[in-house]
Amino acid sequence: MPTTDPSADERASENVLQASTLALTQELISRASVSPDDGGCQDLLTRRLSALGFDVEPMPFGDVTNFWAVRPGSSAGPILAFAGHTDVVPTGPINEWKTDPFTPVIEDGHIIGRGAADMKGSLAAMITGLERFLASHRQYAGALALLITSDEEADAINGTVKVMETLRSRGTHIDWCVVGEPSSSERLGDVIRVGRRGSLNASLTVTGQQGHVAYPNDAVNPIHVAAPAIAELTRTVWDNGSEYFPPTTMQISNMNAGTGATNIIPGTLTLAFNFRFSTESTQETLQSRTEAILDHHGLNYQIDWRLSGQPFITQGGRLIPAVQAALQQVANIDPELSTAGGTSDGRFIAPAGTEVVELGPCNATIHKVNERTRIEDLNILSRVYTDIMLRLLASR
Ligand SMILES: [Zn+2]
Repeated sequence: MPTTDPSADERASENVLQASTLALTQELISRASVSPDDGGCQDLLTRRLSALGFDVEPMPFGDVTNFWAVRPGSSAGPILAFAGHTDVVPTGPINEWKTDPFTPVIEDGHIIGRGAADMKGSLAAMITGLERFLASHRQYAGALALLITSDEEADAINGTVKVMETLRSRGTHIDWCVVGEPSSSERLGDVIRVGRRGSLNASLTVTGQQGHVAYPNDAVNPIHVAAPAIAELTRTVWDNGSEYFPPTTMQISNMNAGTGATNIIPGTLTLAFNFRFSTESTQETLQSRTEAILDHHGLNYQIDWRLSGQPFITQGGRLIPAVQAALQQVANIDPELSTAGGTSDGRFIAPAGTEVVELGPCNATIHKVNERTRIEDLNILSRVYTDIMLRLLASR
C-alpha cells in the first residue's frame, strides 16, 4: 500500500491556498471601488463565504454596501469576527503611478495596485485563512463572522457604525474582532494595534473689525488678537499619555485670514485644528481647556466641535494573547502593541465591549501612489489569521 506523506499533502494544500490568496487579491484590486463604491468586491467575497457555509446578510445603508456573515459552529460559544473594508481611497495623480492602479501587477515579489495593502490583501487573507481553518475544523464552539463595509475611507456614517447598531439591536455581541487594517511597519506582524487615539476637530472663527491698515485704531485685527492664543494652544501640554497612549497632540491644519489686498486689515480669521487624544483626556476636557484659553485672551470667537472618534483600548481578555501567540508561532515575531496611527472602524466596534486587535500588512505605501504589499506577507497573514481561529475557537 502506498504511504501518503502528510507533509507533502499539507504542502500541496498550502500551495493552493497561497495561489488563492494572491488570485483573490488581484481580483479585488481589479474591481475598482473608490469609497463608497464597492465595485462588486462584496459579491465576490459573498460567493466564497457562502461556499464555506456562511450565512451572508447584506446590510446596505444609503449608498454604502455592507454585509454581516456568520458561520455558527457545532455548539454555542463566543463570536470571533474579522472586520474590514472593500473601499479604497482615490488613486491620486494617475500619471505618478508606474502601472494602472486597478490592474494588479506583480513585481519583485510584491503586488501593486490601489488597495493592495489597505486592505484588499487582508480581505483575501481572511478568506483563505477561513478556508484553511474550516478544511480541518468543521466542528468548533462559537461562531465565525465577518463584518465588511465599503465606507471606511470616507464618511464612515453608513458603514460599520450602522452594522454595529443593527447587531446591538438584535442582541448580537461580538466577543473578539480582528480588523485587517495595515498595522505592520517593517515586517508582517511587527506592530499590532490594540487601541486608537480619539480624534476631535475644531473649526474656529475669530471676529475682528475690518479696516484700513493705515488706520489700525479704527479696526480690530483678528490675526493680531488670535496670535497669542494660537501660540498658547500650540504650547499647551494636554496630557502625558499613558502606558498605552502617547501624549495627546494638537495640530492646526488650516489657517485663513486676509482679503489678498495689502492695505486691508481683515475682519475674520478662521482656524481648523485637530486633537489626537489619549484616554487621559476627554472630548469635554479638551473643549473646555481650549475655550478657556480663547476666553483668557479675550477673543470674540465662534467654535464648532466635531468628534470623529473616541479613544479605545483593549486590555486583558484572550484576543491579544491569541494574536501574540499566533504571530510567534507562524512568523516568529513578537509584536509591539500600539495605539498610534489614524482612526479605523475599530472605534465603532470596541465600544460594544468587544476585544479589538488590528493586524494587517505593512503600511508604508497606503494611500500613496504605487501602493503595494509583499505577497509573502499575505501568505503569512492568512496563516496567522487561521492560527488565531484555532487558538480561540477550536476545541482543545
Ligand atoms: Zn483601511
